[in-house]
Amino acid sequence: MTQEEPLPLDIIAIGEALVEIMRPEREQPLDLPAPFVGPFPSGAPAIFADAAARLGARTGFIGVVGDDDFGLCLRRRLTEDGLELACLRVSETHTTGCAFVAYFDDGSRRFLFHLRHAAAGTLSPEDVPSEYFRGSRFLHVMGSALALSDASREACYRAVRLAKAAGARVSLDPNLRPELLGLDKVRAVCAPVLEVADVVLPSGAEARMLTGADDDEAAARDLARPGRTVALKRGEKGSVVFQAGERFEAAAFPVVEVDPTGAGDCYDAAFLVGMLRGWDLSQVARFANAAGALAVTRLGPMEGAPRLDEALALAGIASQ
Ligand code: ATP
Ligand code: MG
Repeated sequence: MTQEEPLPLDIIAIGEALVEIMRPEREQPLDLPAPFVGPFPSGAPAIFADAAARLGARTGFIGVVGDDDFGLCLRRRLTEDGLELACLRVSETHTTGCAFVAYFDDGSRRFLFHLRHAAAGTLSPEDVPSEYFRGSRFLHVMGSALALSDASREACYRAVRLAKAAGARVSLDPNLRPELLGLDKVRAVCAPVLEVADVVLPSGAEARMLTGADDDEAAARDLARPGRTVALKRGEKGSVVFQAGERFEAAAFPVVEVDPTGAGDCYDAAFLVGMLRGWDLSQVARFANAAGALAVTRLGPMEGAPRLDEALALAGIASQ
């Protein structure tokens, strides 16, 4: 890590940055020759970090890219949006992670990942320097980074310990599909972060998966133990926030959905930015819903990350 950029940071994110390369039309399977478009910067932690920076938070990203054009694509984008990148390592041995995506008429998507054995999968505890956390206020951890590789998971756990020791709060977005990893594994990898998380930002399925409750709201309420804030993300139905026995429901903003990828990550970023600004929870939830809604109106995983003014305007919050 170099010390060219001034610390401390408002928000630190850790995990995978990758590029997405997609079929421009539906019904173009990945086992036949057809056009692709991309590369588009992606990876849930990277989308989150980019959104946080666009929303005005001083944001650092801990991750690994390859010494190649896709790595350059990611670094350029994150740099343009003002991220602090002293802990974005360039691997000399592994190429940048990527995902090829095909879409089908029934709404399904097919992914082909080069990630676990790519640069992103080599993230390790050595990439997480203790001094990076000094004075920082939030560390955000995504379940996808906990599941990527043993080394990536250990890097996240170290980051959580350092963040807590530095007095920062920890937020967790489980962001995991149980069908990919298995329920027991999902619970096991999330447990050490969930144990200390001050903020948890699950979808309904993720909240049920972590708690075993069979109803989304009951699961979110279970997660909202004393001292913790839980925001249940409900797609086009908006979100519900639980804290200290209280429940705030925030309606979604009606938008035309073009590409749902990244909505949850942008919601997370806006939620933390709102908390850092000290807004009351109903305002925080409204701002986060606005960021999530804006995210789905644009094609491309990171392209929908809204600017501060846009999100404030949609949420009806005066600029400050
Ligand atoms: P993902 O992990 O796929 O990004 P998620 O399950 O974490 O998604 P969502 O609930 O899909 O998160 O989206 C996050 C938030 O974005 C929602 O709570 C909502 O406020 C907003 N949002 C998402 N989709 C829409 C939509 N179609 N219309 C309006 N708002 C939306
Ligand atoms: Mg999600």
